[in-house]
Amino acid sequence: MRDVIIIGSGPAGLAAGLYTARANLEPLLVEGAPPEVPGGQLMLTTDVENFPGFPEGIQGPELMERMRQQAERFGLEIRPATVSEVTFAPGAHGVAADGRTWEARALILATGARARLLGLDSERRLLGRGVSTCATCDGAFYRGKHVVLVGGGDSAMEEAGFLTRFAAQVTVVHRRAELRASKIMQDRARANPKIAFVWDTVITDLRGEDRLSAVAWRNVKSGAEGEIACDGLFIAIGHDPQTTLFRGQLALDPEGYLIVEGDSTRTSVAGVFAAGDVVDRTYRQAITAAGMGCKAAIDAERYLESL
Ligand code: NAP
Repeated sequence: MRDVIIIGSGPAGLAAGLYTARANLEPLLVEGAPPEVPGGQLMLTTDVENFPGFPEGIQGPELMERMRQQAERFGLEIRPATVSEVTFAPGAHGVAADGRTWEARALILATGARARLLGLDSERRLLGRGVSTCATCDGAFYRGKHVVLVGGGDSAMEEAGFLTRFAAQVTVVHRRAELRASKIMQDRARANPKIAFVWDTVITDLRGEDRLSAVAWRNVKSGAEGEIACDGLFIAIGHDPQTTLFRGQLALDPEGYLIVEGDSTRTSVAGVFAAGDVVDRTYRQAITAAGMGCKAAIDAERYLESL
């Protein structure tokens, strides 16, 4: 029986690990085993320029390695394992992974969310090399450049507008001729002279060896095909929170994000806390996830004291 088990090894999980380890709670962190990517979404990124404390910027994987070392220095135990089942029973929650089960009085869930990808073979290779799933994170790298953005929802319109602060031109490629985004977001994007729309079109391939140079497209109505030369591709087709294991056991919102109580990290079951992108559909930044990981650790510590 442990005091705390943390599931997830992105900024939220590792910040929770650092705080609970420094509070002498001897936490265990279960990080995903391959094909999961321990370290979360930053492992798929190159330059990170907006994490405070790194004035020269830092590579995503290096930032995660440093967070890991910092937490391990205070005794965080990290185990690579794929969690297959989580059972919630106040006082003794269970985490089953790779044929064994751990129990803990408090759990911190930091399993993250996955940005949806288009499913092209070339996509993973070029992620962080011209292909991005986060305009807030990477927009500033495209000053004066031409970027393509795929998607037709509110996120796509918001990100297209944000990108025009840097890019010379933003071409929005959408698979239908109607946007899903709310009217106000659509109107704003349509009125922006730097944003052009390509309708009824899907992206079929990405060109470029080490860096993206163009996207290949197909019009789904006419069957016409072509290429758009561009410096960047932003994919804004939605996110999937990683909550399959918790379904039916914890309160989730209609899109599958974990629901927490007010400003806290408390889920619907006593002693179970949640942090990072598995909760946060709004900010989705490494720094906000790390901040929530810290909150979850403090909430867990207070909960354990109250027992
Ligand atoms: P979303 O509303 O689900 O929109 C996803 C968009 O991506 C849709 O236009 C969809 O096309 C397209 N898409 C999905 N899969 C695709 C694929 N494989 N290939 C090409 N296109 C694909 O997701 P979201 O924009 O991330 O928004 C999520 C939620 O947050 C929504 O409820 C949204 O209103 C909210 N939100 C609000 C704001 C705001 O109000 N400021 C900002 C951001 C997000 P189809 O339209 O053809 O399905």
